[in-house]
Amino acid sequence: MSCCNTNEDFTGPWWRFSPLRNALIAGLIALPAWILAQAGLIELTFAHILYWIAIPVGAWYWAQEGVKSLYEEHEIGISMLMVAATTGSGILGMWEEAAALVVLYGAAEGVEEYTFARTRTAIRALLDLAPKEARVIRKGEDVIIPAEELKIGDLFVVRPGESLPTDGKIMSGVSSLDESPVTGESLPVDKIPGMKVFAASINGQGVLTIEANKTFADNTLSRIIHLVEEAQDQKGKAQQWMERFGRRYSPLVLLTSALMLLVPWLLSADMSIWAVRAVILLVAAAPCALVISLPITMAAGIAGAGKRGILIKGGAHLEHLGIIDIIAFDKTGTLTYGKPRVTDIITRNDQQRSNLIALAYGMERHSEHPLARAIRNYGDSQKIDPVNVSNFKALTGSGIQADWDGTTWYLGNPGLFREREQDISQFEDQIASLQDEGKTVVLVGSEAGLQGLIAMQDILRENASEVIQSLHKQGIRTVMLTGDNTGTAQKIAEQTGIDDVRADLRPEDKVNAIKELLTRGHVLMIGDGVNDAPALATATCSVAMGAAGTDAAIEAADVALMADDLNKLVEVIHLGRKARKVSKQNIVFSVTVLALLIPLGVTGMISIAFTVLAHEASELLAVANGLRAGKVTTQKGKT
Ligand code: ADP
Ligand code: MG
Repeated sequence: MSCCNTNEDFTGPWWRFSPLRNALIAGLIALPAWILAQAGLIELTFAHILYWIAIPVGAWYWAQEGVKSLYEEHEIGISMLMVAATTGSGILGMWEEAAALVVLYGAAEGVEEYTFARTRTAIRALLDLAPKEARVIRKGEDVIIPAEELKIGDLFVVRPGESLPTDGKIMSGVSSLDESPVTGESLPVDKIPGMKVFAASINGQGVLTIEANKTFADNTLSRIIHLVEEAQDQKGKAQQWMERFGRRYSPLVLLTSALMLLVPWLLSADMSIWAVRAVILLVAAAPCALVISLPITMAAGIAGAGKRGILIKGGAHLEHLGIIDIIAFDKTGTLTYGKPRVTDIITRNDQQRSNLIALAYGMERHSEHPLARAIRNYGDSQKIDPVNVSNFKALTGSGIQADWDGTTWYLGNPGLFREREQDISQFEDQIASLQDEGKTVVLVGSEAGLQGLIAMQDILRENASEVIQSLHKQGIRTVMLTGDNTGTAQKIAEQTGIDDVRADLRPEDKVNAIKELLTRGHVLMIGDGVNDAPALATATCSVAMGAAGTDAAIEAADVALMADDLNKLVEVIHLGRKARKVSKQNIVFSVTVLALLIPLGVTGMISIAFTVLAHEASELLAVANGLRAGKVTTQKGKT
């Protein structure tokens, strides 16, 4: 156990935090005693009596903790070193020093634990943004009920300027909503009936009637908070290493200090000098600042990200974000909006276009792919009824198949048909020219031959090239991995300035591409989190975009961006690098302090009192620096 073992949450005012309160009381007894004794206004013996009262009060929590970890976990922690140092000072009759140590260590420890607990729970303040009451419609009338009693399917009303008590779907009304508590994106989003809305979003001008689709306890905001809190318990490699180090280091300090008593005694040297130095070593060598360096940085980084709608699912992932060299982008839905529209339909021998669409619509009714949505939307807009297919199968990364009218039909990219050794030469020219325009072409056909083709176009995200440029400025290499054709992919690469393009990839090819990239550096893969799962899992770190409202994406990735905004990726990289920088600073700083205090202490160059002061001050500095990991400024000037 170390000097930062508080995993409990604390939300009250600081003076109610018991370790701090005790340090404060002990200080209020010891400091006047010291001043009065110095001024000669009280007897030294009386001052000592006051110190004897202050010491147990000030040491109450941390001494118990040290003894407990010795008995229960057989570990000598930093608190145990301090117990030994206090006892040693007392035996030497240095009661002033003993009291100073108890008060200052207790105070620094209290501040550290309090800050840590507050940082961990800071994210919970977000929950207060969701109102505690909901205005539900019961028997045609508005009734106010506690938000916790909302049931799935309840209709509730949100007036202008009010916040939403839970997630739901708009049944009536139009408005623009500020979704920043969930997505971290402060620009209001226009909403019309049928759209999803999230708890704690702030309603703009319209009155909305919303059907709850999550309970209060299970809404997106609660889930974010829950995940962020869980994430802080998952330690990265560096942090685990540091803990193991702490467990071995402290006993070593205690042993060295014991030898500093034993050896001079055996050699009949001047014991009074060596006893003081042995006590100084206990304090000088205690690695308090070092041990808190990483936990406070990770907790601050994860909580700060959470407030921006960026879910980092553990310290390990935050560590990884700091070392990324290459970013692999999925194309559809990541670089593009993922909302393609049908642009061209070409049929064989002037066959009815509506027949082709009816068939394609029928097949795509069962698919979740963005292209499927485009075809369905087109069918609806043309008022074409889909046919009823059976035996639907998704051919991930290339298309779909289904049975209709006694035949098995295929719908997918040209590669799917080439692989099946079908002749597609009659469409070859048209496919090539459509692809050159940056369109995605899918073919429809059976064993008997092709029926026709459907071309669709997706729109590149407005900020895609800006984001790619700013990643390049950070020295990051960018790569696009897509199952789409080379022509379309190339077109998007030109528009965005992305470094490298790999097209016509099946899901397993994407995995191999990531493996190859991993030989060149640490790879982050950003995708939609659903159909690219294997590639996401292979990368050093995976990011899912637009995760709010899609539970699968939140679960799948290491980092989930709630907003559907590519710019958040830049923020993520900033956060990772900041956390890495702050961790490094903290480690270098605390090791330097140890490297200075230990030799100075052992050679008797500094007093106990000075050592205690320097030691506690360095611990507080490490905490203050660690907190900076939660604050980053991006180019947009947002913090
Ligand atoms: P991306 O890597 O761009 O996200 P996918 O791997 O999801 O693309 O799909 C690759 C290609 O497979 C698509 O460009 C499309 O040609 C074809 N495809 C996959 N699923 C479907 C579907 N449901 N309908 C039509 N085409 C599909
Ligand atoms: Mg995709």
